[in-house]
Amino acid sequence: MPVENVLGGIDRGAEVFQTMMIPERLGTAAMTIGAARPALEVATDYTAKRKAFGPADRRLPGVSFQIAEAAMLLDASRALVDATAVAVDRREDPARGRRMISETKKFVTESCQQVAHHSMQVMGGIGYTNVFPVERIHRDLRLASIWTGTNEVMAAIVAHEWYREPKAARLARRTRGPGARRRAGRRGG
Ligand SMILES: Cc1cc2nc3c(=O)[nH]c(=O)nc-3n(C[C@H](O)[C@H](O)[C@H](O)COP(=O)(O)OP(=O)(O)OC[C@H]3O[C@@H](n4cnc5c(N)ncnc54)[C@H](O)[C@@H]3O)c2cc1C
Repeated sequence: MPVENVLGGIDRGAEVFQTMMIPERLGTAAMTIGAARPALEVATDYTAKRKAFGPADRRLPGVSFQIAEAAMLLDASRALVDATAVAVDRREDPARGRRMISETKKFVTESCQQVAHHSMQVMGGIGYTNVFPVERIHRDLRLASIWTGTNEVMAAIVAHEWYREPKAARLARRTRGPGARRRAGRRGG
């Protein structure tokens, strides 16, 4: 290969790969949210109208609690993508950035699969058929925990970076983060 075609220098391929994986993995997380949301919307509309046993299904705790769980997982996923994107943009700590991206990819893709699962479950049999798009969303989302590095590999990266992270840095975040004043008060600080 001509030397002018080398990206990032000889023997620096790992850095190119790490950089490429930022948009790959964070993008996978973000687009997974977009794919899961319609499933929840379809399930929400359906259970608001469907009457299996008297009142609309949404009045059944077994149904509405699954909708609530799915809404919570979607909101938590959005918040984590936002927080990670901000951390990456700041470029303060590449190792922490790698950990957060891996956490985000794993958490969000698994959460969104749960969202699709709950959405199909509360719709009963029709959720499994192709009358509604929920079954397709369920199948499509399955890929997200496999590609751009499986979620097991994400867990390995999280563990690797977490153990390498200096204890002082972890403690500093705990003392600065939400609830720090309460924790300090409990310690008498
Ligand atoms: C539809 C689709 C599109 C794709 N598009 C692209 C693309 O555009 N570009 C690209 O580069 N790749 C692409 N891929 C490849 C994808 O990134 C890989 O399939 C994925 O990274 C997993 O690698 P693998 O298939 O070799 O599985 P393997 O590495 O063989 O993994 C098999 C199993 O072993 C586990 N495993 C492997 N290593 C470890 C470990 N160290 N610790 C714990 N568990 C481990 C895995 O989690 C998995 O469960 C695509 C794949 C699919 C299905």
